Amino acid sequence: MIDLQMHSNFSDGSDSPTELVRQARALGLRAIALTDHDTIDGLPEFLSAGRELGVTTVPGVEISIDTKLPNNGHMHLLGLFIDPEAGDLKRTLDYLREQRNLRAEKIIRKLNELNVPITMEELLAEAGEGSIGRPHVAKILLRKGVVSSIQEAFDVYLAKGKPAYMDKVKLGEADAIRMVKDAGGLAILAHPHLMNYDTWEETRDKILALRELGLDGFEAYYSTMPAEFSQKLLALAREFDFAVSGGSDYHGANKDNIRMGVGLGDLHVPDAVYDQLKARWEAQRSAVAAAK
Ligand code: AMP
Ligand code: ZN
Ligand code: FE
Repeated sequence: MIDLQMHSNFSDGSDSPTELVRQARALGLRAIALTDHDTIDGLPEFLSAGRELGVTTVPGVEISIDTKLPNNGHMHLLGLFIDPEAGDLKRTLDYLREQRNLRAEKIIRKLNELNVPITMEELLAEAGEGSIGRPHVAKILLRKGVVSSIQEAFDVYLAKGKPAYMDKVKLGEADAIRMVKDAGGLAILAHPHLMNYDTWEETRDKILALRELGLDGFEAYYSTMPAEFSQKLLALAREFDFAVSGGSDYHGANKDNIRMGVGLGDLHVPDAVYDQLKARWEAQRSAVAAAK
């Protein structure tokens, strides 16, 4: 069993990268990837814990994409096997992080206008090493008793369309895919079912359009992906030679129904998925080296 999507406290997970590796070892996972949202700052710790504890660790990132989707759908792109030292990747992610801070200040201002007491200092303390996101705001509101659950914080204030919602600066599809490829990684569409297209045909057409931009593949195993959807994706991968990945999207205590490796309980990402991704990445790397 492997798990190629999880988050640490460098974004919105609760566990440190080292704790993730320890858990993976205790569970006997063959390979894991750290895919924090819009940051690669947790990767050095993750990779060195992997070496120390003898767990195969894949350097990754999950990027939010600016694109129009129906039904409140969203698109996330995973970069797997990225080079954490790649300069352009780091610069672009640092820029996104600055934009996140500016957005956080606007969210705070809106909340203050609604007479909700919260300060930027509290938010920075809550996020710690991590880049600031709405879940951090929600946690503070919960702690202060402004809301009685994280979900209520979103439903009343933070979700799209609610009074303290602010859009995030995001990369476009082409830029994000190019950034991942330039950093030597595989560009993998995360949880394609969450794009929320009404039909499978629209999902398929979107994936084929992204392929023209350099997309390598997609997740076909994911905690909340319906089995039927997963089967369709696996068939699409065979037909067009897409890479396939999968993971739980573990966030530790911040999403307490999702467990590492097994997701909601019945997830199983086969070991072969890792072997095939690795082989594909190595082939891509040799091809790039040969072209130079
Ligand atoms: P951000 O990156 O700051 O926009 O925060 C995104 C995160 O907020 C997601 O990964 C979810 O964990 C959480 N989130 C977003 N929308 C909702 C919602 N409607 N209800 C609960 N959690 C949400
Ligand atoms: Zn997350
Ligand atoms: Fe995601």
